[in-house]
Amino acid sequence: MLHNYSIPPKTYFEIASLGYLLVLYLISFNDSNRERIRAYKLFRSLETNMLLALVVSILTYIFSYPELGTPIFICTILRTMDSIMCVMASRIFIVYLLEYVDSEKKYQWIRIVGNVLFAIYLGLMILNLPLKFILWYMPDGTYMHGALFVPIVFTAPVYYLSSGIILLIIRMRTLDSREQLALSAASLITLFGTIIQAATDGALLLSLPFGAAGIFVLYFSLETTDYHELIKSNEMLRIAEQDAIKANRAKSDFLANMSHEIRTPMNAVLGMDELIINEIKQENKIDDSAVTRIREYADNIKDAGQILLSVINDILDLSKIESGKMEIKNAPYMLHTLTGEVDTMIRIKAEQKDLKYIQQIDHAIPDRLIGDELRIRQIMINLLNNAVKYTDKGEVKLEMSSQAVSEDTVNLCVKVKDTGIGIRSEDIPRLFGDYKRLNEEHNRGIEGTGLGLAIVKRMVDLMNGQIDVTSEYGKGSVFTVVIPQTVNRKVQDEAADGSSKEDEATAYKTPDCTFLIVDDNKVNLIIASRFLDDLAGRVETALSGPESLQKMREKKYDMIFMDHMMPGMDGVETYKKSKEDPDNLNLDTPMIMMTANALHGVREEYLEMGFADYISKPVDVKELKKVVKLHTPQEKIVR
Ligand code: ADP
Repeated sequence: MLHNYSIPPKTYFEIASLGYLLVLYLISFNDSNRERIRAYKLFRSLETNMLLALVVSILTYIFSYPELGTPIFICTILRTMDSIMCVMASRIFIVYLLEYVDSEKKYQWIRIVGNVLFAIYLGLMILNLPLKFILWYMPDGTYMHGALFVPIVFTAPVYYLSSGIILLIIRMRTLDSREQLALSAASLITLFGTIIQAATDGALLLSLPFGAAGIFVLYFSLETTDYHELIKSNEMLRIAEQDAIKANRAKSDFLANMSHEIRTPMNAVLGMDELIINEIKQENKIDDSAVTRIREYADNIKDAGQILLSVINDILDLSKIESGKMEIKNAPYMLHTLTGEVDTMIRIKAEQKDLKYIQQIDHAIPDRLIGDELRIRQIMINLLNNAVKYTDKGEVKLEMSSQAVSEDTVNLCVKVKDTGIGIRSEDIPRLFGDYKRLNEEHNRGIEGTGLGLAIVKRMVDLMNGQIDVTSEYGKGSVFTVVIPQTVNRKVQDEAADGSSKEDEATAYKTPDCTFLIVDDNKVNLIIASRFLDDLAGRVETALSGPESLQKMREKKYDMIFMDHMMPGMDGVETYKKSKEDPDNLNLDTPMIMMTANALHGVREEYLEMGFADYISKPVDVKELKKVVKLHTPQEKIVR
């Protein structure tokens, strides 16, 4: 009879929840292609499973209506599937929950036990098909279930849900308040529905509708797109904040280290200077022993000054490299000159520490090469200095060889070996990072900025070379650098011995010349004056731009050295004013910029302004003499 076809009243809840779950499914499906976080995949499968479970459940109740005359085996299959889908949904729920509350994977046994229970349950359900001890249909279509129905069908879901809730309580503190509320509510709602269904022996079908309600709670509290995006951007902010803190700490460490590296030689300079002043102040005569002591103090000041300068040069080099302004300048050079200079510099240092220094240069390397000699020397000195610094006994060895790459190119291979403290293998990847000093406890007494290897690595990269290191902690290290260099086939006559050329460039006098030095710093004036005194000419000084302009009106000089940074009128302004001054007797006198502004490209800038040349401070006496020679007419030079 038709009226008996009405849907059994018990499934109204399920049909209603199917409706709202479908809406939810469509909403979440719509944004499913966005990038998601955490347990979203599991949430999707939970949602799908629940939807299918609802469909199967509703179909089961409709088809098992006796008036419909559905074959009994179809009804049994539907009932079995209905039960399996429900248990599966609760199983996915616990996996989903674990994703939130067990990020460290400490409670995975809950899942394993759950899987075992699920397997037993599945086995029993299959056995039930022929044996009919859990659920079955009578030949007249009446649905029956046995005493084992509730324990078998509900043990796994109740286990999943209750263990989930216990875990939630234990791990509550690891969740934020939104997660706490959403996960507890969803678990309790689902558990409540399941318990009611079990308690009423299946008379009230509330487990699926309540489970669907739980999913609703989860979606709108934890799994919406905007909430996921919020979490992701929070996470990104957290990472950015940590990076900023790390960078800031690295900067502070760097500054503290630099400050230490600058203060130490500074302390030597000031202390030694104080001793010299004392020696001279005590009215006793300056006898030979006092002279020896003063000489020693002066030597120490020189050493400390050189260390200071190398620290500053390192900082400048690194900033040049960082800003992409370091250029490789290729020019012809001779390898034996380079290795000779390196030998002189390193041998002394090695001998001071009682280390053996060995240079093994393969004679097959072409001597005339084209490349950036200065940078190659810097690389070699850096590696060798480190080798000496980090070796207490034994030897430091420089090995050089070459490999022909093409007609005009060789790969120059530089190996620096030491028998020093070595580097831990875990430290090697950090070796070439910026201002990284390794093994701080061990290195505390050894001076260093941690910039050296960072600079070496960048310079090698700029020259298209390669640097490698192998090291055995406690035994020693080997640094290997390979740099391609062009072979210089053109034989140059004038390329005689570099050092004799050098001597020639500085061994001369200019007794007839008069120089003017302009600088607001009296010490700088004294230094430059004494250096120029060596040339036997006359030296005059001016302490400001206006004073120098006045002097230029009164006298013709052979050369003028101008400082840049001066209070009031600076060096560049003074230069411009002097050129516009009709009373200036020095309109054609070469004016040399002598400044501490040693940044990249400034030389070119000064030359462009009209300065005849450029000398950087601290002034190198040889450099100064070369410049003077270059701008002095031949007839005034006496050898
Ligand atoms: P530093 O100014 O500290 O010497 P570097 O950049 O030259 O800076 O070297 C970085 C770190 O690498 C050093 O602090 C040291 O720990 C390690 N190191 C470099 N060369 C050697 C070496 N030959 N033997 C052992 N350790 C070395």
